[in-house]
Amino acid sequence: SERSDVLNGVTDQGDAIDDAAVKPVVAVVGRPNVGKSSLVNRIIGRREAVVEDVPGVTRDRVAYDATWQGREFTLVDTGGWETSASGLAAMVARQAEYAAQTADVVLFVVDATVGITDADEAVTRVLRATRRPVVLAANKVDGALQDADALELWHLGVGEPYPVSALHGRGSGDLLDAVLEALPEEAPRETLEEEGGPRRIALIGRPNVGKSSLLNRLAGEDRVVVDSVAGTTRDAVDELVELGGRTWKFIDTAGIRRRFRALQGADYYATMRTGAALERAEVAVVLLDVSEPLAEQDIRVVEQVVESGRALVLAFNKWDVLDEERRYYLEKEIDRQLGRVHWAPRVNISARTGRHVEKLVPAIETGLASWDTRISTGRLNSWLKELVAATPPPVRGGKQPKILFGTQADTRPPHFVLFTTGFLEDNYRRFIERRLREDFGFEGSPVKLSMRIRE
Ligand code: GDP
Repeated sequence: SERSDVLNGVTDQGDAIDDAAVKPVVAVVGRPNVGKSSLVNRIIGRREAVVEDVPGVTRDRVAYDATWQGREFTLVDTGGWETSASGLAAMVARQAEYAAQTADVVLFVVDATVGITDADEAVTRVLRATRRPVVLAANKVDGALQDADALELWHLGVGEPYPVSALHGRGSGDLLDAVLEALPEEAPRETLEEEGGPRRIALIGRPNVGKSSLLNRLAGEDRVVVDSVAGTTRDAVDELVELGGRTWKFIDTAGIRRRFRALQGADYYATMRTGAALERAEVAVVLLDVSEPLAEQDIRVVEQVVESGRALVLAFNKWDVLDEERRYYLEKEIDRQLGRVHWAPRVNISARTGRHVEKLVPAIETGLASWDTRISTGRLNSWLKELVAATPPPVRGGKQPKILFGTQADTRPPHFVLFTTGFLEDNYRRFIERRLREDFGFEGSPVKLSMRIRE
């Protein structure tokens, strides 16, 4: 079931997330001491968080960003889950089970110099039951002398053993080629319009809030180009405007400027036009008229922005006519009706006098920077681990859901996916979102949070 709480800037979609957005997951499993973390470090190409592969050692991080031959994936080190001392076989079985719950491909590491152990057999059984593709790494094959040891591992019955030396790097290229081979087909990503061109702003709001006046004030005679956009809203015209030392593209200014007013017509048409502008924009500046009470229609426009996933700036216009009394009520209205987009930067302006209009650009830049933010999987997981240790998810139906790891699946806006063993309550998801905002900012951008549950 899809839930949304769009005004919070959070869309919770349970399992129904866009698979194309989530990088494939490769989970590294194997009994302790086989060299899982060394291999992880070898693959991510850093000496980050190298920890002796001994049981009971808690690691800081469990998931990392990895790339091979231009293909990106999330690498999960299940060694990070080796926390209990409930027996080796049980531990590795649980590890393999976790891996199967979360991974597209399992990278099974065996110590070729030791050969097949009971624990390796236990892992094999679990993996076979889960029917995930398995790539077998025969580790510690530091030289040609040990190649024969690797061949022994055919007996596990999970396919070809790839001889590697996590320590020296020998064979890791062939191993990673095999991992890529086993990954699901890459879904084509939708590309944003005019990537790399001027950043695109939609100036929106209900009629008479001052859009046209603000555009005239901003563009004035500095308007450099008028651009006709084929195939979008009829007669849509974009304008390139120089502001704060750079060029911006204002989307569908034809819908704003007076001479096109006649085209605007009914309310529903305005809403459609706003939707079309948002579709092509990266950030929305929503104008609100402070001389009148906030209207249902204002809230709807704000909602439309959050639903579109665009960055958001709130511009309170006509500040020149605001008196003390009205200001008092305005603050109340903002708290009550816009409290849930508390993360959006606010600017108090007057299109008529030009008051504080120069503050728009920094607010827009803040929103776009948040919208573009990417948090590395490693960093996100150290953060998550601390958060969950301090405040674990509430028990539900007698079970405590575990958050196995998280990853930021996408930017524009930031979209986080948590891999969990059970459903996380709305309150808890909101708690995570709040803490994400506290610790990482995201001012001016919606944030999406999804769960991937394997119960
Ligand atoms: P639009 O429908 O959103 O494009 O709004 P307009 O720009 O046409 O403005 C609607 C009315 O509000 C016009 O009479 C403007 O002169 C007036 N207006 C716009 N901005 C301001 C402002 O900052 N202060 C005041 N006092 N009036 C404004």
